Amino acid sequence: MRATVIGAGVAGLTTALTLAERGLAVEVFDRNAGLGPGSCSWHAGGMLAPWCEMASSEAVVGRLGAQSIDWWRERFPATVSKGTLVVAPGRDLAELDRFAQRTERYRWLNETEIASLEPDLAGRFRKGLHFPGEAHLDPRLALAELVERLAALGVAIRFDTELEPAAARGDLVFDCRGLGGRIDMPALRGVRGEMALIRSRSLSLSRPVRLLHPRLPIYLVPRGEGVFMLGATMLESEARGPVSVRSMLDLLGAAFTLHPALGEAEILELGADLRPALPDNLPRVERTGRVVRVNGLFRHGFLLAPALAQIAAGAALDPHLGTELIHANSA
Ligand SMILES: Cc1cc2nc3c(=O)[nH]c(=O)nc-3n(C[C@H](O)[C@H](O)[C@H](O)COP(=O)(O)OP(=O)(O)OC[C@H]3O[C@@H](n4cnc5c(N)ncnc54)[C@H](O)[C@@H]3O)c2cc1C
Repeated sequence: MRATVIGAGVAGLTTALTLAERGLAVEVFDRNAGLGPGSCSWHAGGMLAPWCEMASSEAVVGRLGAQSIDWWRERFPATVSKGTLVVAPGRDLAELDRFAQRTERYRWLNETEIASLEPDLAGRFRKGLHFPGEAHLDPRLALAELVERLAALGVAIRFDTELEPAAARGDLVFDCRGLGGRIDMPALRGVRGEMALIRSRSLSLSRPVRLLHPRLPIYLVPRGEGVFMLGATMLESEARGPVSVRSMLDLLGAAFTLHPALGEAEILELGADLRPALPDNLPRVERTGRVVRVNGLFRHGFLLAPALAQIAAGAALDPHLGTELIHANSA
C-alpha cells in the first residue's frame, strides 16, 4: 500500500514513521525548503508534559500525551526524563494551589526539596510541584532524528513541493499541513506563540521549570550548554510578524523573576508562529475516503503527535471505517 503524507512538521513526520514502521511505502511532501522556521514545530518548547497540560486542557490530552512519551524515548533517545518543576512567587502561591487542583501525578515540594532538584533555585521559592513522569526534548533535533529514521526505512521527503490532498497520488493521503490545511478544515485558527532562545553562563537547570503567574505563566526548557527555550505567549491573533516588544518585556521580565541571573543571559533567537487550533482546542483525526487529516495540535504537537499518528494509521488501515469521522477525544 502506498501512502502520501503532506507536511513535514511533527504531525507529518510522526505519521510517516508510524506508517513506514507498519510496512507501508511512504512519501512525504513539504512546501518548505527543509526543516526550519517555516513550520510551527520548529518553534516549540519540546515539553512532554501531559499532566501539567491538564491545568488548561481536557483529560484526553493527558491520556494521549502519556502514551506518547515512551514513543519518543524509543525513537529519540536524547529525550530527557526528569519531570517538570512548577513554582510560583510568594504573591502567586494561590496559583500553585489552583494548578494542583486541576492536574495530577505530582508531589508537593518544600524549599529544601526544590533546592535538591534544582540547586540554582535554592532559596527562591517556598513551595513547588514536581511532575516526575514528564519529559522534554529538543524539537529541532527530534525532527532531524525522525527524518533520519525515515531515510533508513527508505522514505523520501520531497521538500520545496506544495501539494493539495486531492492532487496527491497513493492509496492513502495523510493531510498533516497544520494551518496550511485550513482550506479543507475551515474551523482551524492560528494561536500566536512567541518565544526566545537564551543562553545563560551562570544558571543551570536540568528540567523544564514553569513559573505560574495569573496573566502570563512562562516556562524555561533546558537545551543543554546553558541554552534555554523561554516561552511562550498565547495570543488569539493570526499576525505573523516578528515578536513584539510587549511580549518580550513580559517573557523576559518573568524570566528575571524566576532567577535574576537571567538578566545577564544572551538572547540568541526570537521567534513567533501560529499554533493550529480547532474551536475546542483539541486535536482531530478525520477520515474522508482515502484522505486522513491529522490537525488541531494546538499547544500539544510534540506531546500528542505519536498517539495521533497511531490513531490515524489505525483509521486508515481499518477497511471497516469507511468515511467515518474519528475524533481523537473519543479514541
Ligand atoms: C512558541 C510555541 C511553543 C510550543 N511549545 C510546545 C511544547 O512545549 N510541546 C508541544 O507538544 N507543543 C508545543 N507547541 C505546539 C506545537 O509546536 C504545534 O502543535 C505543532 O508544531 C503543530 O505541528 P503540525 O505538524 O500540525 O504543524 P506544522 O509544524 O506547522 O507543520 C505543517 C507543515 O505542513 C507544511 N505544509 C502546509 N501546507 C502545505 C502544502 N500545501 N504542501 C506541502 N506542505 C505543506 C508546512 O510547510 C509545515 O512544514 C508550541 C508551539 C509554539 C508556537
